[in-house]
Amino acid sequence: METNNAIDILVIDDEKDIRDGCERILQHMGCKVFIAESGKAGLEILEQNKISIVLCDIKMPGMDGLEVLTRIRKTHESVLVIMITGFSKVETAIEAMKKGAYDFLSKPFTPDQLRINVTRAIEKIRLTRQAECLKLEQQRNLADLETEQSRIRTILETLPNGLLVTNLSGQVVLMNPLSKTYLGLSQDLCVGKKIEHYIADKGLCDYIMGVSRCSLTDGKPLENYEFSLSEERYVLARARPIEGEDGECMGAVVTLSDISAIKVFDRLKTEFVAKVSHELRSPLSVIHEQLAMVLKANDLDTSDASQYILGRAKEKTKSLITMIADLLDISKIETGNKGQVQVKIHLDDMIGKIVEFLAGKAKDKQQTIRFNIAAEKISPVVADPIALESVFGNLIENAIKYTPEKGTILVSVDTKDTDIRVIVKDNGFGMEQRHLDKIFEKFYRIKDDDTRFINGTGLGLPIAKAFVDALNGKIFVKSEVGKGSEFTVLLPADKD
Ligand code: ADP
Repeated sequence: METNNAIDILVIDDEKDIRDGCERILQHMGCKVFIAESGKAGLEILEQNKISIVLCDIKMPGMDGLEVLTRIRKTHESVLVIMITGFSKVETAIEAMKKGAYDFLSKPFTPDQLRINVTRAIEKIRLTRQAECLKLEQQRNLADLETEQSRIRTILETLPNGLLVTNLSGQVVLMNPLSKTYLGLSQDLCVGKKIEHYIADKGLCDYIMGVSRCSLTDGKPLENYEFSLSEERYVLARARPIEGEDGECMGAVVTLSDISAIKVFDRLKTEFVAKVSHELRSPLSVIHEQLAMVLKANDLDTSDASQYILGRAKEKTKSLITMIADLLDISKIETGNKGQVQVKIHLDDMIGKIVEFLAGKAKDKQQTIRFNIAAEKISPVVADPIALESVFGNLIENAIKYTPEKGTILVSVDTKDTDIRVIVKDNGFGMEQRHLDKIFEKFYRIKDDDTRFINGTGLGLPIAKAFVDALNGKIFVKSEVGKGSEFTVLLPADKD
């Protein structure tokens, strides 16, 4: 038996034989069959059940088939009506079709004819249902899409950051309202043009285009770009590439954050530190001097305990004076002071002398210190020599300090693209990855079993970084615990 369970059929005929015959055949086809012997009874059944197909005799006492058909058409639009017409009554059949019958069956009909007509009707119902399902699904998808789009629009509009998206050819494809504010653009401006159309800062355009084409990544971690809109108004741009399925670059997503408050806070902090350091420097120097004098006088009378205590106090004031000098240095550099004088410096010469000067310290620890200069001619850099000496002196001293006895320190100078590159490499204690960003922050010191007893202020690297940044250079570090560290400084070569 076929399964047409979902199809309910109503047979309306005043002739019992026809009703019974239809019922048997249709049940055999797997349909659920309802029987009515008059039009009125049929319409009642139709009201109470979910009938899909009605087989209705045209000629019946009381309400005839055409009247039944007219009523069904008015109230049950989707029900298919197959009219059962008398022998050779073609006109009646045509009239029924005009009134909306789906098909007709002429009496007398064979079981096969009934099956063919009903099967055709069932197929039509199936197709109609399928089409309705698809339509519903499509409507649901469209509604979902619209909700999604509106959700994304709301997210973009309420983001606390500016957001800008570019494609591979550098066209801006999306900009949220805040990004237009940060870039000083009118809110009515439409997207679609090249990035230069929206951004006047060439450095920012180059940065975004570099990320869009993945040419900036080059295996290195991506950097951010800072720019100022006006005095006291700073924005940080963070661009990340959009990658296609095969990892190819397809553009960039750029977030813009207002960092003015952080910048102002930082400046105030620097000013405060500078002021306090300045105020402390003179009294501390006086205390240091006086301690030195007392110690000198005490030299004559040998009171060991007080001599020791005074000696320690003098040492501590000396460290404090050094720290204050460092803090004043940082404050100066952070407020844009690149140093007293700006001269051409040949780093190979300068670093050679620093290595020579510090060789004694390395020797005390039985360390080997080597200095390599590239074969090619090294162009000079323009900077304050005292400041540069402090940068490289600090890096080499650190390498000696944080490398155990008998270790090796390698210092090299060469050229990388348009920069002069200095590398200070040691095979000392090394550092865990989690410290590497933080060691350039003021006062950050790693205190583990190896370094706990090594003296320092945690200001050497911040000074070095502040100075290298002020010269538009770069400083970065690679390190592995137990294997050693490698600090690299890149400084732009003098073009003349
Ligand atoms: P200081 O040496 O005075 O503590 P720095 O700012 O020069 O301050 O260095 C910060 C920290 O970075 C150091 O305390 C040390 O833990 C770590 N560090 C610096 N250079 C090296 C190095 N070459 N090897 C291992 N650790 C280092």
